[in-house]
Amino acid sequence: MEDLRNAIRDIPDFPKKGIVFKDITTLLSDAKSYHRMVDLIAHRYIGQKIDQIVGIEARGFILGAALAYKLGTGITLVRKPGKLPYKTIQKTYQLEYGTDSLEIHSDAFKGGDRVIVADDLLATGGTVAAVIEMVEDCGAQIVECAFLAELEFLKGREKLQSHKVFSLLKF
Ligand code: IMP
Repeated sequence: MEDLRNAIRDIPDFPKKGIVFKDITTLLSDAKSYHRMVDLIAHRYIGQKIDQIVGIEARGFILGAALAYKLGTGITLVRKPGKLPYKTIQKTYQLEYGTDSLEIHSDAFKGGDRVIVADDLLATGGTVAAVIEMVEDCGAQIVECAFLAELEFLKGREKLQSHKVFSLLKF
């Protein structure tokens, strides 16, 4: 797992001063690392009944689409406002400074669909907590939230206590 950790690079002061951003593009562009990441995460769910993967814009699409392909499921997109063409459910959530919003198609799931929510990184947990609410409002059941990486010091998991959380790499 050390090679996967090393494939992610730290970018100091991005997007603003004092933040050390985990840049996963270096892992994604390395064939061996990218395939290993997808295989290791998908392996957890092989043999389970999973109906959909939910991918969070934008880097969550990269993991989500690969997981969906591997597991033989479809993928549902959670997008920034104004991007989805049909009726949507929207959720606004708190950022460190200000708020952000995400949307999902209101007819994304059949009642009781079992889904995995996928994103690249768990930080404070605000993003995925909003997605969880939207997905459950649309009638799906969340089997687990899956991330490539987790910034443990931000304690995002504490916001998600009633849900299962898996991260391949912990920082
Ligand atoms: P949270 O809502 O604070 O958990 O932030 C998670 C969201 O912000 C995810 O959608 C990530 O893509 C993005 N994010 C936050 N910090 C980083 C980082 O260091 N690297 C890559 N993505 C990040």
